[in-house]
Amino acid sequence: MARVEYEDVWKQFAAQGAPAVRGLSLDIADGELLVLLGPSGCGKTTALRMLAGLEEPDRGDIRIAGTSVVGREPKDRDVALVFQSYALYPHLSARENIRYPLKLRKMSRAEQDKRVDHVADMLGIAHLLPRRPAQLSGGEQQRVALARAIVREPRVFLMDEPLSNLDAKLRVHTRTELKTLQRQLETTMVFVTHDQAEAMSLANRIAILSAGELQQIGTPDDVYDHPANLFVAEFIGSPPMNLLEVTRDGDTLVAADGWRLPAPLTRDHSARELTVGLRPEAIAIGTAGQAAEVVAVEPLGSEVIVDVRVGEKALKVRAAPAVRPQPGSTVHLAVEPGAIRLFDRSSGSAFH
Ligand code: ATP
Repeated sequence: MARVEYEDVWKQFAAQGAPAVRGLSLDIADGELLVLLGPSGCGKTTALRMLAGLEEPDRGDIRIAGTSVVGREPKDRDVALVFQSYALYPHLSARENIRYPLKLRKMSRAEQDKRVDHVADMLGIAHLLPRRPAQLSGGEQQRVALARAIVREPRVFLMDEPLSNLDAKLRVHTRTELKTLQRQLETTMVFVTHDQAEAMSLANRIAILSAGELQQIGTPDDVYDHPANLFVAEFIGSPPMNLLEVTRDGDTLVAADGWRLPAPLTRDHSARELTVGLRPEAIAIGTAGQAAEVVAVEPLGSEVIVDVRVGEKALKVRAAPAVRPQPGSTVHLAVEPGAIRLFDRSSGSAFH
């Protein structure tokens, strides 16, 4: 168990290229599950590998439990890394694979077995222990890889897209288990993913990266309700936040087709180029309000996504399952004023 800190960490691979990680600072609490989230190539794996000791930062400091680990061998950092590929030894049984890190320590065979059995029980894989990796499904292999990380009782778990090889159902199931397990073990975990839904469901806090730079760090509710900028607004949420270019007219924001929305009170009223953000559930389909044309209806079982157009602007509205307007018909949109988010279009930053 340990606090993890990144302080102004930089990493550049090729002399000419853009830095993979730019000035990353994070303070991860002891026992926290922090998710590093971002699109492919944003630097999240590099950030994790620097914590593991598989890459060294060019600048900045990384500390575990208050002590710098920069320059220390991976084996001396007391962290356990689980990858997308399970990296199990094919010639060893699941039991021997899990036992492997314990063999390197001065621990009696009986104690090793006790620990392996305990972890296997925790992950529901006791019956698989005699099998070799080739005799296990992908999901089972991933559990063995997780067990091998857990049995070490490291100070920090590092997870690099560990669930991506699993099918959708197993992935959701394993995600829930992993979250419960992390809470029970109270071990700090840094989890890398490009999947925003996975990040939302797992994290205590999410750190969102783009092009090597931290965009926002906050709880899933924070980043969903109050995205710090347009990048986060579009990256978090499915369907993503609707973005509308608007101009200000006194207390009103005017969008395409003359759609008028109340301007939220912000500290800075000077910006002229504004973008409004509206979550799909912040718009209601009713009998009064802005007229919109229905383009398509996507029934998803528990909800319906209604694709509409206001002038040229396409929007997605989240509605109750029974709402089924006809494509081509006209509906009216009402907006919850408290749910309107406002961004400076030129910088992309949110007004709070
Ligand atoms: P993905 O989800 O695709 O794994 P990522 O967010 O984890 O992406 P990184 O793997 O950290 O991104 O890569 C960040 C940037 O650094 C990318 O532009 C990548 O091409 C580059 N990069 C990563 N590792 C190396 C390396 N060993 N040598 C050169 N460039 C690298």
